[in-house]
Amino acid sequence: MELDRDKCCYCGGCVGICPENALELRETALCIDGERCKNCGLCAKFCPVGALTKDENS
Ligand code: SF4
Ligand code: SF4
Repeated sequence: MELDRDKCCYCGGCVGICPENALELRETALCIDGERCKNCGLCAKFCPVGALTKDENS
């Protein structure tokens, strides 16, 4: 997944949505664990500001 850091408002909503626990909200950044992420796109659908987009190359 690709994160647009300018759009993300760190609401943390996507963290609880991910079935793989690949998302973690730290103080100043949302971290995506590329090892865990299955690129299912759930978080991208959930994000209210469209900050997450599917990485078509993975
Ligand atoms: S694409 Fe799916 S597995 Fe990857 S971070 Fe988003 S919800 Fe989690
Ligand atoms: S749901 Fe969107 S705005 Fe909220 S923390 Fe996740 S990526 Fe950022």
